[in-house]
Amino acid sequence: MSALKAALIGKNISQSLSPRVHEEIFSIIAPRVSSGFTSIDYALTDCDERCDFADALKKARTNGVTGLNVTIPYKADAYALTEEHFGMAAAIESANTISFAEKSVAFSTDGEGLLNALLREYPEFNLEKYHLVSIGAGDTARAVLYSLCTRWMPKTLTIVNRTIEHAEDLANFCVAQAPGPTVQVMTLDEFITKYTEPRYRMIIQATPIGNSSNPGNLLEDFAWSDLDFALDLTYRPLETELLAAAKEAGAKTMNGLGMLIEQAALAQHYWLTGVLPERSPLSEEEYQRIKLRLTNELS
Ligand code: NAP
Repeated sequence: MSALKAALIGKNISQSLSPRVHEEIFSIIAPRVSSGFTSIDYALTDCDERCDFADALKKARTNGVTGLNVTIPYKADAYALTEEHFGMAAAIESANTISFAEKSVAFSTDGEGLLNALLREYPEFNLEKYHLVSIGAGDTARAVLYSLCTRWMPKTLTIVNRTIEHAEDLANFCVAQAPGPTVQVMTLDEFITKYTEPRYRMIIQATPIGNSSNPGNLLEDFAWSDLDFALDLTYRPLETELLAAAKEAGAKTMNGLGMLIEQAALAQHYWLTGVLPERSPLSEEEYQRIKLRLTNELS
């Protein structure tokens, strides 16, 4: 009888759904891949201002942890402090997942997790008909834009951020990784007053504003159209003010719950098998079952 030891490390994570999500996923994937693990022991490691992240990584490894999920504000540190990086982590220089075996290996499942969830919810989705807008330019926006823009070429790409230098940095990254569309950067005020594309806008909300701890809507006065697509990476609440406004106008909408499930499934599959699958390890029925349970808990 052995337990897969895993944990989420980040700041202010006491409300995280990750333990529940990983337990559900373990019960599905572990028997299928004959991992030898009979249970999962998933902990929350809150690493606040007094915490030394490098030290926390060492302790996790010494204590026999196989896998770590990493969240705000340590994704860049997770990349910098690990011995090997693969997949998109090497391109985006940040990681949301670590695996400890002979070496510490970092990778990123946020972008592919979002992509898998998006194509489940909207199988016909094609970014090429949309003007893509990212509200936020942090680690997760970078991972998501990498996955989307290396798969499709949007009509245009606009990066909107509180700190314009961070938006410029992300814009330069996107131009280098996925050249093609016209790329522009804007502050939030400029976006509300100067953005001119009237429809077919896919707007990704990738900041903490709108979640239960930071209520609000950065696009409060935005004129949504029924041809738009609003994607908010938040899942608590399931419908943010931004999503409610977009839905009211008839736009397609999606929250971050599917992404949470899919990024966790990819991470756990790696911890159990040493392989990062190209597609989701969950069947449609398994995904919907997990999603329904979590939706009921969050409603
Ligand atoms: P991050 O690296 O810390 O970036 C945060 C972004 O939000 C930055 O662009 C930051 O702007 C902006 N921001 C923060 N506070 C703001 C405020 N008061 N007003 C305006 N903008 C503000 O975080 P992240 O990893 O990218 O995560 C972003 C969001 O995605 C979080 O809410 C996180 O929970 C969510 N997420 C969801 C999933 C999922 O599975 N559903 C997975 C990962 C992340 P500056 O550049 O100006 O600081």
